[in-house]
Amino acid sequence: MFKFLQHIGDYVQNSVQAIQYIGQGLSVTFDHMNRRPITVQYPYEKLIPSERFRGRIHFEFDKCISCEVCVRVCPINLPVVDWEFDQETKKKKLNHYSIDFGVCIFCGNCVEFCPTNCISFTEEYDLCTYDRHELNLDNVAMGRLPYKVTDDPMVTPLRELVYLPKGSLDPHGIPVDAHRAGLFPVEILEQAGEDSKDVNHESISNV
Ligand code: SF4
Ligand code: SF4
Repeated sequence: MFKFLQHIGDYVQNSVQAIQYIGQGLSVTFDHMNRRPITVQYPYEKLIPSERFRGRIHFEFDKCISCEVCVRVCPINLPVVDWEFDQETKKKKLNHYSIDFGVCIFCGNCVEFCPTNCISFTEEYDLCTYDRHELNLDNVAMGRLPYKVTDDPMVTPLRELVYLPKGSLDPHGIPVDAHRAGLFPVEILEQAGEDSKDVNHESISNV
């Protein structure tokens, strides 16, 4: 009898939880029903990508030490590091470096693990070409400074969702000085630093 009641209790608990989850899901759906479509008039208007956006990779030739770590950590061994051993300096000499962005999955492993930080993500997302082979960029193409939506005089930059003030969904007509809803990564780091200082201070004072 006790077991039977326990089963019923579990069943009721699961049902309530299921209804709760369905309610949560539907609340998102109903929230969207109140929203009007927002059109970005690309290419005259472009969204500013978020801080951690993984766009075309920028490469700094002089900083590369030809260690090939980027190749080893890449899930598809994509970067091509063409180097030779310089007998005079007894060091590797980089000749060419390339990444095929038609194949790259922008996972970020190479950027994350490069010991000299000579590769970094940019906010360049507009990589379309008529021929996919043109996406195979060499060190010269990867070395050029990235395109910035905010620097282009022909484009109206629009704030992406993460930059919008609280309660706003439409990036059009947002005042320039309107603060966004969340904190900037720098502000989060500063806050984290202050918190850790407070924790250290407390632990020292407890000692
Ligand atoms: S990991 Fe960095 S330094 Fe090493 S070969 Fe790749 S790009 Fe060059
Ligand atoms: S971003 Fe990922 S897939 Fe692209 S080259 Fe780097 S490690 Fe390879």
